[in-house]
Amino acid sequence: MRPFVFALVLSLFSVASAQDPPPPPPDVPNSSVGPSTDEEAEAAIDAFKKAMASNLISTQVQAVKDLAKTRHEKVIKALTRYVPWPNEEVAGNAALALGQIDHPASVDVLNRALAAGATKRPVVAACILESLGKLGYESATATLNKLLERSSDADTRKLMSDLLKAISRIGSVSSVEPLIDYLGAQGGGGQGYGGRGGRRGGGGGGMEGWGNRGAAVNALRSITGGDEQSAHDWEVWWKLNKSTLLAKATDTYRCKVTWERFETPTGKKAVCKHASEKNHSACAEKVRTRLVPEPPESDGDRDRRGRRDGREPQGERPDEQRRRE
Ligand SMILES: [Zn+2]
Repeated sequence: MRPFVFALVLSLFSVASAQDPPPPPPDVPNSSVGPSTDEEAEAAIDAFKKAMASNLISTQVQAVKDLAKTRHEKVIKALTRYVPWPNEEVAGNAALALGQIDHPASVDVLNRALAAGATKRPVVAACILESLGKLGYESATATLNKLLERSSDADTRKLMSDLLKAISRIGSVSSVEPLIDYLGAQGGGGQGYGGRGGRRGGGGGGMEGWGNRGAAVNALRSITGGDEQSAHDWEVWWKLNKSTLLAKATDTYRCKVTWERFETPTGKKAVCKHASEKNHSACAEKVRTRLVPEPPESDGDRDRRGRRDGREPQGERPDEQRRRE
């Protein structure tokens, strides 16, 4: 639907909504561009290696960003050693760069970094979680669910908001029960925010814990489409609805040849749109299963991402701003 038609439809229901532009789609990996050629990848990696020999961090960071424009498995390999890099800015940007390369190997690198102690570096870990959420591969879920279970750990607690966001974006069914358990451990009684149970000072602690409680509820909403507050109600609701939701879930696949993504009703054979062409007989690779589509991105998420990427949240480039001043 065109934006103005969308706005018109909204205006029939609500005057306030008509003034707001439709929410932007989630920031997802670009699946309309195919992979780069071997030659392109080698040339880009050569230039990258030269730039990384510089003593300037800014040059290194720019080199990492430039390399991410080339979509190739060799690029993922070249970036791998920089995710645990001693300089946090280089490491964080390497993690963000991998989030732009839609390939299961990117997820493996990020997953391994988290499992190997990246949680002790909050800035880097936040970038890793951002990329895992954006890539959306269910293969990251086991690591993320494990972190959720370790939420009382001091390092992990600092990452809860980013962790819950990543879990929410991937939308794995396997995260539902750990999320309900986490919610239950936060305390706070049966009516959600400041409800009748009052604050019993659950696992999260203080206002930070309170925000995480809301983020956990949002993650459960995003994954299941349900709308409950307390852990108890979610548990009851999930038992009632799980099998119906699973039956009408959607599988996302990627084509290993063109790197395009496509969706099929769950359980149906995945057939890429190039299936009749050469090399596409076994090209479908599963990305994830979602019960309900990933919700549009909120303004808060977009602003936060803009800051992390060093981009302007309003979509204005820094050079345009400078020219005006
Ligand atoms: Zn294919």
